[in-house]
Amino acid sequence: MQPDTKNFRNAAAAALANENVQANLAGLTGFHDARLDARRQTPQWDDASERARAIKAHTLDNLDRYLLMMESNVKKTGGHVYFASDAAAAASYVVDLAREKGVELVIKSKSMLSEEMALNSRLEESGVEPVETDLGEFIVQLAGETPFHIIAPAIHKSKEDVSELFRDKLNVPLYEDIGDLTREARAQLRQKFLAAGMGITGANFMVAETGTVALVTNEGNGRMCTSMPKVHVAIAGMERIVPSMEDLGTFLRLLIRSATGQMISSYVTTVTGPRKAADEDGPEEFHLVIVDNGRSRLLADPELREALYCLRCGACLNACPVYKKVGGHAYGWVYPGPIGAVVSPMLTNLSDAKDLPFASTLCGACREACPVNIDLPRMLLYMRKELTQGETYPEHKSRSTVEAAAMKGWRASVSSGLMMRLANAFGRFAQLPIARRGRINRLPPPLSGWTRARSFPALASKPFRTRWRKRRRG
Ligand code: SF4
Repeated sequence: MQPDTKNFRNAAAAALANENVQANLAGLTGFHDARLDARRQTPQWDDASERARAIKAHTLDNLDRYLLMMESNVKKTGGHVYFASDAAAAASYVVDLAREKGVELVIKSKSMLSEEMALNSRLEESGVEPVETDLGEFIVQLAGETPFHIIAPAIHKSKEDVSELFRDKLNVPLYEDIGDLTREARAQLRQKFLAAGMGITGANFMVAETGTVALVTNEGNGRMCTSMPKVHVAIAGMERIVPSMEDLGTFLRLLIRSATGQMISSYVTTVTGPRKAADEDGPEEFHLVIVDNGRSRLLADPELREALYCLRCGACLNACPVYKKVGGHAYGWVYPGPIGAVVSPMLTNLSDAKDLPFASTLCGACREACPVNIDLPRMLLYMRKELTQGETYPEHKSRSTVEAAAMKGWRASVSSGLMMRLANAFGRFAQLPIARRGRINRLPPPLSGWTRARSFPALASKPFRTRWRKRRRG
């Protein structure tokens, strides 16, 4: 998926005007409420969050050690490991492997990293057919779209949308019942599962001490992808590593309950290398691709390192008042919502995504929802500061000269009592043509954006300081 992070404003306006998207976004409430219930029912949730944060901090401080341990343990089980510096290198490894093995059809389970790698288009370009097998991903692939939500890729589509899509793309009748739609998808996918030469999955976690990859799914498709084709390729961001199986338990509890509100997902699959002689099924070859693709930049920045604690549970999206109105496509790249507003600019280009850190009310709902207490508002403020002052990333400084002049004027006007009084007097005079009954409903350009959706109280005829002084005198 190519980043299109420059168009947040336009894309957000389009989503707001789309009644269908607005109606379907209401579905997020279900996830949000289920998470709150699961949290209430989980004893010592806060302790588990703190433990998870401590594990993440320790693992990232020792990332090289744990990644090498993972590599060594995967190799001991007969698997292969490839470290990819960027998305293009990771995709090339997978495409070359598919070619080398003569693979014509690949089945995939849901992986946001694969979207980062634009893996489907890379496979198609080299004549390999990729088929998404998660139902939501299957729907967005048929529609030629990108996922709308980290854990619910097709949440923006209604039952009727999907029914029409299936009719148009799969040449089947218009189904009215969701059960019929899922049966149709299952029938279509079964043929693909049987014929595929390679299965590609993400990895919710890598366990360094055993060389294991852990997958969390609800549809069983992940397990089909890891066990049916002869070759299984798992792709993982380099931060998705935990030291031990015991740590994995802590993270699984937090991830699943925060994502869907389930106590445990339908399937938790662990894969440790290729099929052994005594195994009933499993791939003949196992490859693990560990991807950096900008994560080192986050790791190196003490202000942003915390973003690598993310479990990709999606809870911050479901809590965010901005995401709940504009949805996932407005963010223009793989990761939407508050976590997307932090990581997308750093994994793509901060100055190309300069609207994203501002796409937040800083209400703190994302921080409250996060199972590992990631302080997203603090990081969004840091990125705003970088965009205006460029202390750490001078190349990304992108404040306009008009804005800079306005800020200088503001600073001057509040720097002394005299200046404040003069600015106030000027403001009261300047607002005469636009203030009505004590409110300003419409500001002229370039300030018109401020009043597009709200009004302001006009400056009082007598400033507070004057009234206060008068009152104290008596
Ligand atoms: S930032 Fe926190 S809430 Fe958001 S997806 Fe990541 S782990 Fe979940």
